[in-house]
Amino acid sequence: MQTLTNKDKSYVANTYNRFPVEILSGKGCYFYDANGKEYIDMGSGIGVNAFGASDDEWKSAVIEQLNKVQHTSNLYYTEPCAELARLLCQKTGFKKVFFGNSGAEANECAIKIARKWAADNKGKDCFKIVTLENSFHGRTITTLAATGQEHYHELFNPLTDGFIHTPANDIEALRKTVKENNIAAVLIECIQGEGGVIPLNADFVKELENLSKEHNFLIMVDEVQTGNGRTGKLYAYMNFGLKPDVVSTAKGLGGGLPIGAALLSERVENVLGFGDHGSTYGGNPICAAAAISVINRLTDEFLADVKLKSDYVFNEFKKANGVVTVSGMGLMVGIKTEKPAAEVVKAAIEKGVLCLTAKDKVRLLPPLNIPMDALKKAVDIIKSCM
Ligand SMILES: *Cc1c(COP(=O)(O)O)cnc(C)c1O
Repeated sequence: MQTLTNKDKSYVANTYNRFPVEILSGKGCYFYDANGKEYIDMGSGIGVNAFGASDDEWKSAVIEQLNKVQHTSNLYYTEPCAELARLLCQKTGFKKVFFGNSGAEANECAIKIARKWAADNKGKDCFKIVTLENSFHGRTITTLAATGQEHYHELFNPLTDGFIHTPANDIEALRKTVKENNIAAVLIECIQGEGGVIPLNADFVKELENLSKEHNFLIMVDEVQTGNGRTGKLYAYMNFGLKPDVVSTAKGLGGGLPIGAALLSERVENVLGFGDHGSTYGGNPICAAAAISVINRLTDEFLADVKLKSDYVFNEFKKANGVVTVSGMGLMVGIKTEKPAAEVVKAAIEKGVLCLTAKDKVRLLPPLNIPMDALKKAVDIIKSCM
């Protein structure tokens, strides 16, 4: 019989350089392999399993909907889709929600809205969107064009036209870009995730807001990774006092099922009309039911607890040996280590802790409800690998 690893290597496309870990099952912040080896999960499937693996409350929400109906298409009304949209609007003040299935699709929706809004309000020749250098916005041809990292582009040119990249946290460069181009929108991550867990400076965000008023363009925030409680607020823009026109999100929203969303402010809620955009699975009842259970649990009390755990993690790593810098917010943590990050992650896996990398950093995105004792154990193990 072929081993799982060999079968995967034989038949699954070669796009993933997997770690030598075969996961059979999981519960909470733990994953188990076929030999019963336990791993503490400090990556939550790249920020997806907000409440860990096979969480009971999340599972019952999914199973309850599974027993009703799994999919209907967007030709008909279903309760979970409408209720999730209502809940997101009520908690954020946004007016409408468009549902897709992934982060890239949520960003595609944002980009289409920016283009149509600009054409409607500023003229057909206004379509350019500014994004930040070192950003990450997805893998489709258009979201790759938005992504400000050349090495993702090289193999796939020509990409979608109309994106301009400017350095993050460089106010002068941003002013210049905005003044020299007739732009439709600026798309930012409040904390660059894949780019190395790098937060934007408050004054850069403030200047972006000023410029958007002066030059009449949309502010769009990619909260695919930072959203849904990850930074200790429901959405990361709330840490910056920012009022975006569009927010895209995915990853943690479904707690492990594929759902993405674009949140639309009053300014853009009616930009897209019948037939202008769509998604066969978008707002699927199972994924929406999962997301309702996730969003309902992100109460102020719960988020206060995320912040307490965050303080613990930041304090521990700031004073640890072998650490150069610690960055991020909430339970989105980037640690620059003296040793190469890949070596730290490899050693941690051997000792039963799964963590991520982002550029040259060790990146931690544990389940938001990770118990304190498991968190302490994982932090100690990671420190011992540095
Ligand atoms: C992961 C990620 C995406 C892409 O999400 P997919 O669901 O993989 O399409 C986009 N933007 C950011 C900030 C991300 O972290």
